[in-house]
Amino acid sequence: MTKDIFAKCDLEEVRQVQAGGIYPFFRPIESTIGSSVVSRGKKCVMIGSNNYLGLTHHPRVMEAAKAAIDHFGTGCTGSRFLNGNLSIHEELEVELAKFLGKESALVFATGFFANQGSISTLVGRNDVIYSDRENHASIVEGTRLALGDTLKFRHNDMVDLERVLKMTREKYQGAIIIADGVFSMSGDILNLPRTAELAKEYNCRLYVDDAHALGVLGPMGQGTEAHFGMSNSVDLVMGTFSKSFASIGGVIAGPHDVVDYIKHKARAFMFSAAMPPAGVATVLECLKVIREEPQHLSNLWKNARFMQKELNAMGWNTLNSQTPIIPLLIGDEMVALAFAQKLYEAGVFATPVARPAVPEGCALIRTSYMASHTQQELQYALDVLEKLGKEFGILGNSSRQDELAVIARHHFGVKSSAPELESAFAL
Ligand code: PMP
Repeated sequence: MTKDIFAKCDLEEVRQVQAGGIYPFFRPIESTIGSSVVSRGKKCVMIGSNNYLGLTHHPRVMEAAKAAIDHFGTGCTGSRFLNGNLSIHEELEVELAKFLGKESALVFATGFFANQGSISTLVGRNDVIYSDRENHASIVEGTRLALGDTLKFRHNDMVDLERVLKMTREKYQGAIIIADGVFSMSGDILNLPRTAELAKEYNCRLYVDDAHALGVLGPMGQGTEAHFGMSNSVDLVMGTFSKSFASIGGVIAGPHDVVDYIKHKARAFMFSAAMPPAGVATVLECLKVIREEPQHLSNLWKNARFMQKELNAMGWNTLNSQTPIIPLLIGDEMVALAFAQKLYEAGVFATPVARPAVPEGCALIRTSYMASHTQQELQYALDVLEKLGKEFGILGNSSRQDELAVIARHHFGVKSSAPELESAFAL
């Protein structure tokens, strides 16, 4: 029996949520200064952004973007492979390779493309990918396009990774372990010391997506390797400019020959137009600002530590996050949507995370903090979160909190603390 291919496009669940007035996505933002925004005419504190260093509105960064438009125009109108390769793309690659401590770097139009293009290009028919279950969707996309197999291991669970390696490694030729450096929903930090050991022991290459670690972890924001003081433990570092680097675009960095191979084979790189000039200049200036103005990194951590302490003290289950991404575990999906709507109405902008990004019954509100948040903004967000947390029966309700602790343990592998990594987190 044939069927109209459009028949599936009814989005019933979405329509129900919209009709219920709790649809939390695509909220229009009319103006922004980064740490706060105006949406539907109302000022909100923004605690749902990845603008960790707050550099989208840094005067030097904005000037550099404007100057690039004056010099190069607004777009490259073609792939770098053909007519769109600007001198500043190459300058940016040199600077990024230095920043990341790698031989070479290659800049893509988005981070999504960097993952999709690099992974699908490198992994051939007889190769295997070992992929953390919580890896970002763009990694999943790359693994789906790759000709080799993908085997998943439990999130950040080194015993499970070793179990899978032991059972399967011999069946394949090349192998690569892929994981986020900082996981985008839970805010977890990859257990790099053990992952790197296992990669060596089982003759695998190691690929780390540092989208949420660049500008955030390490003494200068160079990411997960720097955080653990383990330079050269990761073979390929992937990053994005859509977070701390206040722009859009992505990067893969590693050995020269490998990066050059990706440059000449990855279709997501070759057959898509280049990052626009203003975007490139923004990242170049961010790199200078990061070097010359360390106060942004220290403010970020001051704010993140403050929020971790206050939210945990209030009774929120934050999945023991150790980064500026601080999830607030809610559990039921509809409750999370309703909670996010109330937050928005009270002037706090954060979005819920539900299936498929997290397992069913594990919905959360993903909050994240930036260097440019003022104490007043953070206190306002805390007051609203406390008031709504009580109204929704999440805070001040020990049986609910016990239930959430069970969800955190079972679905996110959260122990009450992670002493083995504690020293590495100290900044
Ligand atoms: N990796 C991770 C971990 C991410 O969070 C994101 C963006 N949300 C990407 C890759 C994709 O980056 P981009 O936004 O530059 O496409």
